[in-house]
Amino acid sequence: MQRRDFITSILGICTMSTHNTLVSLADTLPLLDYKMPVLFIGHGSPMNAIEDNEFSKRWQKMGAEIPQPKAVLCVSAHWLTRGTHITAMANPKTIHDFGGFPQALFDVQYPAKGSPQLAQEAKILIKSTEVGLDHDWGLDHGTWSVIRRMYPNADIPVLQLSIDYYKPPQYHYDLAKELAELRQKGVLIIGSGNMVHNLRMVGFPPGQERSRMGFNVEYGYDWALEMNVLFKKHIQDHNHRPLVDYKSLGNAATLAIPTPDHYYPLLYTLGLQDKEDNIAFFNDKAVAGSLTMTSVKIG
Ligand code: ZN
Repeated sequence: MQRRDFITSILGICTMSTHNTLVSLADTLPLLDYKMPVLFIGHGSPMNAIEDNEFSKRWQKMGAEIPQPKAVLCVSAHWLTRGTHITAMANPKTIHDFGGFPQALFDVQYPAKGSPQLAQEAKILIKSTEVGLDHDWGLDHGTWSVIRRMYPNADIPVLQLSIDYYKPPQYHYDLAKELAELRQKGVLIIGSGNMVHNLRMVGFPPGQERSRMGFNVEYGYDWALEMNVLFKKHIQDHNHRPLVDYKSLGNAATLAIPTPDHYYPLLYTLGLQDKEDNIAFFNDKAVAGSLTMTSVKIG
């Protein structure tokens, strides 16, 4: 190779790599003059994905009410990992992570795109831990059951952030704070779980069996209703300490949160709550005795 060719070729590589860097920087989302709300959504039964009921209709309405997001980042109760990971594939698959439901639910596909660029940006924002860029997961039903109702056209990129199940509650609350900037970049952050979630204690009032009504029989045990009131009070008062230290909330909390998988998504949304954010509750109901569908719009 002639010296000039060599230099040209080196310059070419440099130019190309600079160009790529510029392209990827240009692809990151610009700051907006408003902040996206943050949602905690009680997802309940997977059947809410395909049933038109009061809960799924409210999700649909919420999708139309709030500003159209540039992307959705969902923390689902159904992606528990060691370490924190974010989906980084261009085309996340629809995961049917349940059993014993009708074929119609297994037939659901939600073909939203991912966003490798946003995954990278979130990874850079989170400095407290090394976030893994995931290419294996996809969208589990904690995410798509809700988001397909909010955005039925699947035309908004959707990512998931996993829950490191080996970390304490404080870790999740603190990690969320590192994502705060994404609210100003048009990213809708959703925690999808259930504040009260004890599947072993599911129960129905006489005459309203699950077989007829699904899980959505409006009915709550005393302790479930007690916790629903307490959770809402602390969220409304921006009193996060007892919500992070939920194990100190007594027997009702132990029954409401026997395992924290469906509760941790709430901590991600609370970590993103600013003092000036408005709080609005929706789908504020207990079902099947030991679950609440209570959901929160922050901001
Ligand atoms: Zn669930």
